[in-house]
Amino acid sequence: MNNTDIPQRLLAELTLLRQRLLDALSLSNQDYHQQLLIQLKVSAPTLWLDLTANKLGPDYQGLIARLEQLEAAMCQIEIGQYGYCCDCEEKIDEQRLQADPASQRCRLCAP
Ligand SMILES: [Zn+2]
Repeated sequence: MNNTDIPQRLLAELTLLRQRLLDALSLSNQDYHQQLLIQLKVSAPTLWLDLTANKLGPDYQGLIARLEQLEAAMCQIEIGQYGYCCDCEEKIDEQRLQADPASQRCRLCAP
């Protein structure tokens, strides 16, 4: 097993979920969702979480939480901290990262 495909997997899921967010907003008949959609379309995707913070209802919570997790993992790759548990700072095992490349915690610290 190797980790070379992990950035691609993270990016692919990010792209998919960002599109899902746009799709969900475009199907909404709420004015503020439409305004938010326009705002997102002209902004860099890395700013989307800031732009949507506290603006979306419970229907979006799962999607937003996953986007946060994926972006955190991408950020960790960029700074060379990928694959370490955010609680105990031990290395997260390979199998766990393969199962979910956005894992933030090791087996012992995971809730
Ligand atoms: Zn840990």
